[in-house]
Amino acid sequence: MTTCDVVIIGAGPYGLSAARHLRTVKGLEVRVFGDPMSFWGQNMPVGMFLRSNWTATQIADPEGKLTLEAFQSATGRRFTLPVPLGDFIHYGLWYQSQAVPDVDRRKVVHVETDPAGFRVHLADGEALCARRVVIAAGISLFARRPVEFDHIPAELATHSSVHRDFSKFVGKRVLVVGGGQSALESAALLHEAGAEVEVVAKASRIHWLQGFVSKALHHRLGKVVRNLLYAPTDVGPAAVSQLLARPDLVRRLPRALQDKLRRRATRPAGARWLVERLKDVPIHLRCAVVSASLAGEQVQIKLSGGTVNLVDHVLLGTGYKIDVSKYGFLAPELLESIRRANGFPILKAGLESSVPGLHLLGAPAVWSFGPLMQFVSGSHYASRSLLRAITGREHGASQVS
Ligand SMILES: Cc1cc2nc3c(=O)[nH]c(=O)nc-3n(C[C@H](O)[C@H](O)[C@H](O)COP(=O)(O)OP(=O)(O)OC[C@H]3O[C@@H](n4cnc5c(N)ncnc54)[C@H](O)[C@@H]3O)c2cc1C
Repeated sequence: MTTCDVVIIGAGPYGLSAARHLRTVKGLEVRVFGDPMSFWGQNMPVGMFLRSNWTATQIADPEGKLTLEAFQSATGRRFTLPVPLGDFIHYGLWYQSQAVPDVDRRKVVHVETDPAGFRVHLADGEALCARRVVIAAGISLFARRPVEFDHIPAELATHSSVHRDFSKFVGKRVLVVGGGQSALESAALLHEAGAEVEVVAKASRIHWLQGFVSKALHHRLGKVVRNLLYAPTDVGPAAVSQLLARPDLVRRLPRALQDKLRRRATRPAGARWLVERLKDVPIHLRCAVVSASLAGEQVQIKLSGGTVNLVDHVLLGTGYKIDVSKYGFLAPELLESIRRANGFPILKAGLESSVPGLHLLGAPAVWSFGPLMQFVSGSHYASRSLLRAITGREHGASQVS
């Protein structure tokens, strides 16, 4: 059986960036498994825009060469803010072709401990040994489906992540549940596709990110003050953004404060470009789904306040709940050994779990390193930290700049 130094599970922004960093080390054999950028290509709707700003949309590269600008000049593709999903996927695939051309698309189906470290089994039956395993497998398995919809067939109430194309909903009554970006952007796309859409959200108001007032304020603040208040990582409100851009500091804060910052930075919010697109879509606030039942081929929804709605489809923009036990490829004894809190692994420096040599990047690292870890801009910190832990080396160039 072949043995390598590091197996990376996942070829999204985190897995690719980690591979790019580790491969700067001579003699370190790194294998990467996964379908490149598949979450972005299969679980997000066509027509979507990224909410993160330009600098925060760059996948970390220790040499600073694989930037959005370099991608544009290499391919001739032109786009500005907000970055369209299609362009970001092409950027990610271009990054992969430059940095990790030998990504192995086979799925990892089982990871167990082995005297050499870990044994990694692939979907076609092949297995290999690795001294370390880096899990960068994303959040697709963590889609949250509220219990009220347990008895509703999957085809009548779907999570927002299962849709690429909303054209099949033309003329249908669709209720969107949720007040965050996924719910609101799906509602806009459904409306534009010709569906009759309504949104229900528990919140008392929709938080519009960088609303028009704050945009004007931004201009008045001037570049220097703006840069003092907002880190280029683009996660969190003024000043808090600078703190969240420093995960080593965040992890030393009292737990209650960390939780508070996380809730504040990732509270449901919509991007300002949706305001105009949603002006004809009814949005019901302070409104929760109390129950859902089947009514012929439709779904009857009871809302708090007593309203009853009959709809053809319910779209659940209800987000994700991290629970690493849903990574079905982890052998039970390995999972048992991972210290966890609320479904998140508790990680130390190098994003290493309580199982030596097992690292988890991306959203599972949020509990230990803060909300930056669930965004592309967190790939800079995660990859550098991983490189440092594995090799003791630091590559200074990989900073969001
Ligand atoms: C609707 C929506 C909009 C978003 N917009 C933004 C945004 O604007 N900006 C931003 O920074 N973030 C955004 N995010 C968050 C975004 O998902 C993360 O920033 C990013 O995907 C994290 O990258 P990742 O590499 O951790 O995971 P992913 O991109 O999900 O990659 C996971 C990889 O793991 C692979 N994989 C999974 N299981 C296995 C297995 N068993 N074997 C082999 N490979 C496997 C997959 O094929 C894939 O290659 C958005 C999320 C959603 C849902």
